[in-house]
Amino acid sequence: MNNTICYLNGQYQPLSEARISPLDRGFLYSDGVYEVIPVYSRYPFRMEEHLRRLQKSLDGIRLQNPHSTEEWKKIILRIIAEAPFEDQTLYFQVTRGADIKRDPPFPIGVPQTVFLFTAPLIRPTPQQRENGVGAVTAPDIRWGRCDLKTVALLPNVLARQFSVDAGCVETIMIRDGYLTEGSATNVFVVKNGIILTPPQDHRVLPGITCDVVLELAAKHGAPYEVRAITEAEVRNADELWITSSTKEVLAIATLDGQVVGQGEFAGKPGPVTRQMHAWYCAFRDELMRHGRG
Ligand code: PLP
Repeated sequence: MNNTICYLNGQYQPLSEARISPLDRGFLYSDGVYEVIPVYSRYPFRMEEHLRRLQKSLDGIRLQNPHSTEEWKKIILRIIAEAPFEDQTLYFQVTRGADIKRDPPFPIGVPQTVFLFTAPLIRPTPQQRENGVGAVTAPDIRWGRCDLKTVALLPNVLARQFSVDAGCVETIMIRDGYLTEGSATNVFVVKNGIILTPPQDHRVLPGITCDVVLELAAKHGAPYEVRAITEAEVRNADELWITSSTKEVLAIATLDGQVVGQGEFAGKPGPVTRQMHAWYCAFRDELMRHGRG
């Protein structure tokens, strides 16, 4: 088991020894938010952006940030340094703490619960990279603030299991006839050489990887549009890919059992997807070389 050093409410301790109260509001009400940062060669990629998103999620649920950015960085870097692996997935979570009773209104004078731990980074396999992966679609049954990264992930868990049951890697969600996102990824469509992704409104999480991809498209002059995408456009895409901190840029080769795209690249990662993945890797590796993750 992963028994690295974790951080819990001011203490650095082995993960197997960490304990929280069953009255913690994260446990009782999913009353908390979280972040996941990919760590390459011990450098946290886009840490500032993840900390900014954490602040937005905290503001969105009216929970005070227990730490300054500098304090967060100190804790994050120590957890990364203590781990016995180079490439990591760093997870951290803040909940509204544990009161002495179960009562929905915000408790008064109860400190937040702060938890961080790290695990080896599991990346797509070379085979998944080469061939792309399968995805399925499902209705988006989540609440109205999907822009907040809260720990209330039951709909995402159910959506993800739906793809596992279908032998696939992701479930792409559709709300009122429009694409929203994957269970734990943002989704990109390529049509006639144009990269499309939905706007970052309350229906989707503003993905850090999604932002990197849009920045790379702009930097390299690749045409892109951020706009509402219909379910029909998803089904008729020339190429489809998903992004996340751990999946990076990953091609979808089949959707609901149907091959994505036509001609030479049907059911395979297409040229725009391959190009974007190459730009992403080059950008990430360049940052890591300079220690500016
Ligand atoms: N959308 C959802 C619902 C997610 O849970 C995630 C990440 O976990 C993403 C998108 C991708 O975000 P990021 O690129 O910041 O990892």
